[in-house]
Amino acid sequence: METRLRALQEEALDALEHTSDSASLEAFRITYLGRKGGQLTALLHQLGGVAAVDRPRLGQLANEIKANLERRFEERKQQLGAPVGKAEQQQTDLSLPGRYLPFGSLHPITQVMEAVCSIFESMGFAVAEGPDVELDHYNFEALNIPKHHPARDMHDTFYVTDSLLLRTHTSPMQARIMEKQEPPLRYIAPGKVYRCDSDMTHTPMFHQVEGLLVDRDVSFADLKGVLSSFCARMFGADLALRFRPSFFPFTEPSVEVDIACVMCGGQGCRVCKRTGWLEILGAGMIHPNVLSGVGYDPDIFSGFAFGMGVERIAMLKYGIDDIRLYYENDLRFLSQF
Ligand SMILES: [Zn+2]
Repeated sequence: METRLRALQEEALDALEHTSDSASLEAFRITYLGRKGGQLTALLHQLGGVAAVDRPRLGQLANEIKANLERRFEERKQQLGAPVGKAEQQQTDLSLPGRYLPFGSLHPITQVMEAVCSIFESMGFAVAEGPDVELDHYNFEALNIPKHHPARDMHDTFYVTDSLLLRTHTSPMQARIMEKQEPPLRYIAPGKVYRCDSDMTHTPMFHQVEGLLVDRDVSFADLKGVLSSFCARMFGADLALRFRPSFFPFTEPSVEVDIACVMCGGQGCRVCKRTGWLEILGAGMIHPNVLSGVGYDPDIFSGFAFGMGVERIAMLKYGIDDIRLYYENDLRFLSQF
């Protein structure tokens, strides 16, 4: 009996060495270890017939051989890297942790655009969007910038044809909105704009939000009230505002608006270049030429318009110092928002 057991072990180990895939492993398992008809199992059954005095010793040996073969079988299975048997293939380990799906988030520019729009929407402004490829007429002429006007030089325009271009600001929406309806109207127009310019504070494509309000008796005080309220809500504090005289061909008078530096509260720091102020937008009362250009009577209606750079607002809100970070698609940067 002992000889047969040891011979079977030799034979089985040799056969195990020659297995090469999950099919041959399964065949080995059935031949030697199978509960029904397996050779080792058959020998174990015969143990009942040996002399009582030899039975404990042979029983122990048989169990050792069985344990050894099962261990070697498992090792071989690992080596071949193959799951064996249908039951094992279909078994699901419910204790394993689930697959991890990383959460995405909105781009910081999108988040700031949505925040800007939602603040103005709460003040009764509707949102309008227009084409990125714009007619020269809307981008310039309807905004009191005729051909050969020196203000065109400041725009670094990408032209498609003589009369077609990539819009250099969101202001074309002023004329597009006004020529479609009569006052009173309140709109904001967010979108992409394009200029042939690229450095630490400029990218060839960036985002603006244009604002526009036209009605009877609209004054500069209304403009100031709307912008003060916007800044307080955007930057979460009652920051001081400063209106500096400026020039845009399509507004008169025109201003550039500064807020007290969000980094130092107006004390002066590197970000505000020690001035305590940060420029955030341009604005003004809509020029009578623009109003009459869309068929409004400038003696009856007045209005204001403003435009802000979204990247600039986001840089100030989050303390970002290089505009190009927004467009490098580095997840380490983007996942912080
Ligand atoms: Zn500062």
